[in-house]
Amino acid sequence: MRYVSTRGQAPVLDFAGVLLAGLAEDGGLYVPETWPSFSAAEIRALRGLPYAELAARVMAPFVGEAMPRLERLCEEAYVGFDHPAVVPLMQLETGLWVQELFHGPTLAFKDLALQLVGRMFEEVLRGERLTIVGATSGDTGAAAIEALKDRSGIAIAILHPEGRVSEVQRRQMTTTASANVANIAIRGSFDDCQDLVKAMFADAEFRREMRLSAVNSINWARIAAQIPYYFAAALALGAPEREVAFSVPTGNFGNVLAAWAAARMGLPVARLIVACNQNDILARFLAANDMSVRPVLPSLAPSMDIQVSSNFERLLFELLDRDPQAVERIMLGFRREGRMAVPAAAWERMRAVFSGFALDDAGTEAEIGRLHRVSGYLADPHSAIGIAGARDASIAGRIAPSVPRIAAATAHPAKFAPAVERASGVRPTLPARLADLYQRPEHCAVAGNDLVAVEGLVRALAERTAGLGIAA
Ligand SMILES: *Cc1c(COP(=O)(O)O)cnc(C)c1O
Repeated sequence: MRYVSTRGQAPVLDFAGVLLAGLAEDGGLYVPETWPSFSAAEIRALRGLPYAELAARVMAPFVGEAMPRLERLCEEAYVGFDHPAVVPLMQLETGLWVQELFHGPTLAFKDLALQLVGRMFEEVLRGERLTIVGATSGDTGAAAIEALKDRSGIAIAILHPEGRVSEVQRRQMTTTASANVANIAIRGSFDDCQDLVKAMFADAEFRREMRLSAVNSINWARIAAQIPYYFAAALALGAPEREVAFSVPTGNFGNVLAAWAAARMGLPVARLIVACNQNDILARFLAANDMSVRPVLPSLAPSMDIQVSSNFERLLFELLDRDPQAVERIMLGFRREGRMAVPAAAWERMRAVFSGFALDDAGTEAEIGRLHRVSGYLADPHSAIGIAGARDASIAGRIAPSVPRIAAATAHPAKFAPAVERASGVRPTLPARLADLYQRPEHCAVAGNDLVAVEGLVRALAERTAGLGIAA
């Protein structure tokens, strides 16, 4: 499989190439040159497979020749998950299911991709040096650090907005003692962190010198690794004979894009619900074709406190019939003016599949409390927003009653214990392996929204990691 950039000016690469490159050199995002497709018979043949095997089969067309040990890597990535089904499905109410994606080491769905992608990096690098930089609104950073700490030749620097991630999220990142890891708290928002990462990539000399790569959801390998669980859920509820609908708590648009990719590959998907918190730019866009940026509002679901969803560009590329000039024109206008509209036909095509949904903090707390009263289910704020989206009457009205609605549960409730306790009266507990998290020492630098300062910190980390290599 070959990959092209959404802006059309970057070299065409294979899977190993896009894995290492992260963002494309022309500022675009890599997408597959063509979409693989699975026939109904091929989908049926996946039913009942162990998750690691299913994941390897679904990802195989994207990976191509680049990763001969793909199935082995999948087995290693998922063997450490706390649930034998890896991505278990549970019924909450009539017609409503939840798929728990948080049984990995850092208790968020990001582990599903990053536990695999970390191993893929090591596989293609074979000891060569690489510096990974990433911006996190909470969960990506912890999952990336957990996936890459102590991997040979790889340094990892993670930027997070100071004070805007939960205490568990912060501690999961900062209590790692590994010398190849740097945490940098930025005085600013998640979007500021993301802009700093983009600016490091745009600094060609720094990029080359550090051999920069990315593991945030602009990296195609992560999207690819998120597609299989949609197949697993749909198969369990009757695909390919029966359609399903998914509701996905959304921030950077990576997870719901993976659901769209599954549909594009042949999985029968009746509707995709883009569930947002009070940062509702995508819901507003789906309601009125007006994507206009507003200030980020901190919420109970911080991993969704995002106004500019970078993965949206991948969908835009498809909606515009893969016209890179049109993508570039719209994205540059969006950057300049803070708003975009897409051609009416493209917007209607998006609305034929996607519905927007938004819930503020009060609504999120009410949903957590309601779920606990009605079914005894304890949901974290992100997951509760997804479940509320799947229950929303006006959205449900557009989905046939025979179609199961599946909400993605993206984080363990103990990751957001204070909010869950306030809303439900029950304090969720961390799994035993994380019980001493609050006692472990933290390691974190603080910087302003300042490219030069951040590049200095990353350079120091890369030098330290290279020194480690020599010492070893
Ligand atoms: C990252 C994250 C999201 C948002 O996912 P995107 O792929 O960025 O849209 C939602 N919930 C949780 C718990 C997350 O960690």
